[in-house]
Amino acid sequence: MGINEFINYKVAALLHDPPNKARILSEGKELHIGHEREAYKIASSLRCAFPKIDTYLNSTNENNADNLAASIDRYLGSIVYRDKSMFYEKNIYLKNILQPKLNLNIGNLCFPIFSMRKCDQQFINSLVKLLTKLDTNLILLYQIFYLIYELHWIDSMYSTGPADTRNPTHNIFDHLYATAAMMNWILTFSGHGGSKRKGCLLGIDTVGVADFIGKGRKTRDLWISSYLVSALLWYVITAFMEEYGPDVVLFPSLRFNQFYAFYLLEKLRKEEIDNKVIDEVEQLVINYIFNGDDLFKKLKIPPYPIIPGRVTLILPGFKKEIDHYFPLPDDNYFISKVKERYDDGWKRLIHALRIYSQEKRGDGFWNLVCNILNSTEELLLTPPLKIRVKQVSVEKSEIFKKSSLRPDAWKVYDTKYRQLVSEFKKDKLVKIAPESHLKLFELTKDGKLPQFGEKSKRGYEFCTSCGVLPAVVIMPKEEEFNKLIDLGIAKDENDLKSLKKIISPGERLCAWCLVKRALGAEPRLMKVLLLGDLYDVEEIVNNVTSETVKIEIPSTSDIASIRTFEEMIEKKDELCEDLKDEKVCNTPNESRLSMWQWFNENYYKGIDLTIDSEEHWFSEEKRGYYFSLFRRHGINFPSPYYALVRADSDYLGDLLEGKLTPYLAGIIDSGDYANISEKKKEVSELLKEYLINAGSGDIICYIEKMIGGIFTGDYTNAGNYLHKQIKDPGKCYEQLKESKKYFNEIFNEGRIIVTPAWHVSISSALNRGLIAEITLINKHKGFVIYAGGDDLLAMLPISEVLDFIKESRRAFTGYGGKLGNMCLEDGFARFNNACYPALPIVGRSYSVIVSHYADPLPTIVNDSYYLLEEGKERISIDNGKESIKKDIVIFKYQGLQAVIPLSLVRPIVTSVSSFEDIASIIDLILALKKKIDEGEISTSLLYDYKNCKDLVTSSPLPVAKSLLEYWIKRNSSLKDAKELVGLFKPEYFTTRIEGYQLKGDLISNVVYTLRIIFGGE
Ligand SMILES: [Zn+2]
Repeated sequence: MGINEFINYKVAALLHDPPNKARILSEGKELHIGHEREAYKIASSLRCAFPKIDTYLNSTNENNADNLAASIDRYLGSIVYRDKSMFYEKNIYLKNILQPKLNLNIGNLCFPIFSMRKCDQQFINSLVKLLTKLDTNLILLYQIFYLIYELHWIDSMYSTGPADTRNPTHNIFDHLYATAAMMNWILTFSGHGGSKRKGCLLGIDTVGVADFIGKGRKTRDLWISSYLVSALLWYVITAFMEEYGPDVVLFPSLRFNQFYAFYLLEKLRKEEIDNKVIDEVEQLVINYIFNGDDLFKKLKIPPYPIIPGRVTLILPGFKKEIDHYFPLPDDNYFISKVKERYDDGWKRLIHALRIYSQEKRGDGFWNLVCNILNSTEELLLTPPLKIRVKQVSVEKSEIFKKSSLRPDAWKVYDTKYRQLVSEFKKDKLVKIAPESHLKLFELTKDGKLPQFGEKSKRGYEFCTSCGVLPAVVIMPKEEEFNKLIDLGIAKDENDLKSLKKIISPGERLCAWCLVKRALGAEPRLMKVLLLGDLYDVEEIVNNVTSETVKIEIPSTSDIASIRTFEEMIEKKDELCEDLKDEKVCNTPNESRLSMWQWFNENYYKGIDLTIDSEEHWFSEEKRGYYFSLFRRHGINFPSPYYALVRADSDYLGDLLEGKLTPYLAGIIDSGDYANISEKKKEVSELLKEYLINAGSGDIICYIEKMIGGIFTGDYTNAGNYLHKQIKDPGKCYEQLKESKKYFNEIFNEGRIIVTPAWHVSISSALNRGLIAEITLINKHKGFVIYAGGDDLLAMLPISEVLDFIKESRRAFTGYGGKLGNMCLEDGFARFNNACYPALPIVGRSYSVIVSHYADPLPTIVNDSYYLLEEGKERISIDNGKESIKKDIVIFKYQGLQAVIPLSLVRPIVTSVSSFEDIASIIDLILALKKKIDEGEISTSLLYDYKNCKDLVTSSPLPVAKSLLEYWIKRNSSLKDAKELVGLFKPEYFTTRIEGYQLKGDLISNVVYTLRIIFGGE
């Protein structure tokens, strides 16, 4: 197959339904327009960019892909109503694909109609204007179209309707993008030799990401490690999206993806496309993909590592050579391609470092890096992280019977995806540490290991950063640091200083950790991976070498000092008159950018934020001086604490397999799926609700009757109802039989059968969730270390952490109102008038460790990982009715631990009124904290609770409430505590938390949480 043909089919897949399809389904009869005609109209308007694209529309391939991409509930459509007018539904709702009880009535919103003469053609005109200026190869056109098609729609203030008004669970764009993805398999089997080819589902999994990110002494090490994970996998991804198009990447979705958008903007620049076009695309990207944050533009790399350690690709069974696709040479072609590409990425990076450090030899640190790279060439051939790659293949006979789709083809994607998951599970237990592949230990035996700085007396020393590998550089102690001048490592005092800033006295680094440290010092070198193969390494490095703006990464003490810095800025006039010549009051003469937005926003406000707080207020000798200085000016002396926050989604893996565990978290668990029939009742009830709510209009009645049949074995009602729609008794019987088979299969599996639409919707929702979360971290002055997929690791000032968790938890669920250019409401994320699903039924758990800035980072990071991973498995919440799990925050400060549930019912969300219950206990904690901060309540409250706890938990509600009132009043100046007591909902009194060294009532945990937060403030 020719490349043009292949890509055109995918473009056509994106165009096969018009984005305004819902309106046409609803009003088409009166308007005398079919949605096919409308699709054709849009496609033919784009002919100047994609010649003959309209001839690809409505092909058999497209219909097949359309069919296989659709969501589970929509299959009913292809099975039952082959006749499109069946169960006609005029109302336009958009339902949430995870919780169809949440729906938006969008019939009144804005949809243009393009086939009508007098209508607004601006959308098409500006799309055409943009695309025709590209005038370049088809793959770039497709990549850009893939990026901007929906963004442009959003920007035109139009609404996004469902793909089908009868089963409106997925957004038209989710449907279009899923269809393009499915094309990879359909096209594999089309044409001559199709039955010999195999389509493929491929998974990449990075081994030990959490462990890898946790190794390092400075925030810079952690940040660069997580960036490295993202960038290496991104480099692998670029090869596939250049060869086949961006649709092959299912996870992480390339829609709303910051790395993809960044890459494409750079690609446009490289192709020397008209600047106006670039600006226009860039504006869309800033508005909707970076949510108004243009830091990436200034930094010249995306600031947040958002590519997760896991990637899933859907691939066609051929490879590209020049402008044609040819059969794959062998079954393992993709696996070896991924592995090679991954290794190449690492080598590219080392190569870049080598050139850069050579160039910068004038600087002590880079000179050292250069020397080490030259003497450890062989050591650095292996990447510091291993990946596992698995694939499953699909054959034509599994999808097609002769030339038409098999009746059970709708289950093929589901089967393949679950096979892939089980491939990974099989060897999960075999853990291979990357260092075991290194010959390092052999080297230490031979004494061949290079050592810079001090020499080890016993042959080698362990790296102080990772603690695992032998060090290649050993820094002298503070008192002997000058030695480095004699050793020729530093030229002079200045050189020593700059070196000391990057490698501390007494530090010992192995080759890998040194590479990480170096990349952390110049993260823009990551561009050799971020930009795929757009440029040679040399070209990129030259470009980076010419950068003059320094990139900052905050330290833990910087984050602990935020409030002090802010107060200093506020009082800078009087303060600086007092301090005069001190560095603190210097106006910055160097331009700097930080990966930390708070720094960028405050850098030019009169206080030097680059000063090292450890050498100022936190230092032993100057502490007293700053203490009295701050007191003189009414500035609070900084607390040495910050919060390390880790979060991930509950049961996301299960959700991707269609299991119902996220809906019933704790009531059923992942393990129950080995024998799901034991939990039949709960599972069937949930599936029934899902399927019924997924419909709209007359179809609901049919589904109800069908499901009724499944439970009773009597399908008479369903048959009669169907007969009203299909007069021909023969046809009616056949359809009824098909429906029966379909529903039975779903209920037997006890799952939602997974489809590309399901995955595409969830995957792009995760990206939007990330965008919201990053915006919230910035809003709360935090620093993002890692934000890949559904995982988050961030540092926040203690004073912001409760608000952050509340807002982040709510945003993830699609609630919380305006956030940058997004609006989160009713379980959806809305940009202008375009609504996309959020993930309302999925819980999100957090661990928060209140840490001292000088605590060793690896210990804290590791602690936060186990606290979250083990804690959320082992802690159960008894809400008085049943025992549930997950969706919690675990707080920890020294020996004190507390657990706060973020929801107390399952499913978490069943209607719009559920949203305000999410994280409502945090609201209560915040309200109490505010009263304490304002001095209306004394902190003695927190130590007094133990005296009334037993009575509160054992008394009936009215008594318990008055006891609480007494408890609050006794420790405060408040005359009336009714309002505060009102925030304690009845269920808080009966909820108990158990497991993981914890046992207790919910209110005690509220009290402990406050003690933890005050401990850090
Ligand atoms: Zn190391």
